[in-house]
Amino acid sequence: MTNIDIKKVRAQFPILNSTIHGKPLAYFDNAATTHKPDRVVNKVKEVYETLNSNIHRGVHYLSNQATLAYEEARTKVQSFINAAHSHEVIFTSGATGAINLLANSFGETYISEGDEIIISHMEHHSNIVPWQMMCKRRKAILKVIPINGNGELVIDEFKKLLSPKTKLVAVTYVSNALGTVNPIDEIIKNTHANNSLIMVDASQAVQHLKVDVQAMDTDFMVFSGHKIYGPTGTGVLYGKEKLLNEMEPWQGGGEMIKTVSFEETTYNELPFKFEAGTPNIAGAIGLGEAIDFVSELGVENIYEYEDELLRYATEQFIKIPGMRIIGTASKKASVISFLVNDIHPFDMGTMLDKMGLAVRTGHHCAQPIMDFFGIPGTLRASFAVYNTKEEIDRLVEGITKIAKMFG
Ligand code: PLP
Repeated sequence: MTNIDIKKVRAQFPILNSTIHGKPLAYFDNAATTHKPDRVVNKVKEVYETLNSNIHRGVHYLSNQATLAYEEARTKVQSFINAAHSHEVIFTSGATGAINLLANSFGETYISEGDEIIISHMEHHSNIVPWQMMCKRRKAILKVIPINGNGELVIDEFKKLLSPKTKLVAVTYVSNALGTVNPIDEIIKNTHANNSLIMVDASQAVQHLKVDVQAMDTDFMVFSGHKIYGPTGTGVLYGKEKLLNEMEPWQGGGEMIKTVSFEETTYNELPFKFEAGTPNIAGAIGLGEAIDFVSELGVENIYEYEDELLRYATEQFIKIPGMRIIGTASKKASVISFLVNDIHPFDMGTMLDKMGLAVRTGHHCAQPIMDFFGIPGTLRASFAVYNTKEEIDRLVEGITKIAKMFG
């Protein structure tokens, strides 16, 4: 039994009262983006209504107030992930923005011809393509940790991939397509024992699991704001102070400069060195509010409740004739990828939508996983703190009905 009052939680999300095609909405696409509670929406509105102004360089009242609120949001992120300093938190446009920033700055600073970067077979495209692009530019080599049939990383193979040339390991904490929770502590320990650096993609982790960057001892970490009940267009790059200080900035302009002349430009200090241009001020402040929402509920409580939903849904799903769950790792977050008989995921997804049941279909931006399993894609139901067992019952009923229709 959860100690979260789910009714009270749901009341904070008016969109959950929508009807879709005349049916009550049951939203199971939380791994793509979560809904936003009232307090986040109101916070963003309040920023535009009461303190809209550009930050950091203004002497006038509104600019100061906006700067304070933006920097307060940074401090909230710092304490949420337990970073040693608030300037180790860089606001970005999302996890993709954060990884591209890192791949560019890290590549420029540390990577030479023949160096190696390790990613895994279960990465989101956002944690594959920026590294591929960087490796191409710097003539470096990309290596890939394999997965097994349960959708788990093969850790023994990972250990074999580590070499004196490994500069960085960039892996996801939780797979968005399968829900696998990776043994991140073990991966970090092995990486450091090899004198390499690590980046953890926590886009599918921070909303479910307690993440403490100092306890994990990760060098870099990224996550999305919009998957943790925050506004779209928000995200975070965390990096250890020493590394961020050493790294070249990526984008130039605005906030990231100290002085500019045509002969020479000097860069601003952290975190501004990596935040060129006017940032998503209202978004970052909204993300701070979302973090308050999660922290007040308690991420451990959220995990416990979502795990209950995952177990319940898995038990019900496997009773459906023809059900095949893709991703059966021993530790999973609240994601179920599945196929039923040979029904195409798009057909099933479209029909579920007509019943008000929102699931994601396709490759979930993780095409190599689909290739591994030899399938074009899956249906994916991913649960958040506002989902209920009654909604899962409706989903199971819907899937069963469609499966019967297809005979
Ligand atoms: N990494 C993972 C594991 C994801 O699930 C996602 C989004 O689905 C991303 C990266 C990209 O996140 P964003 O949409 O914030 O760029």
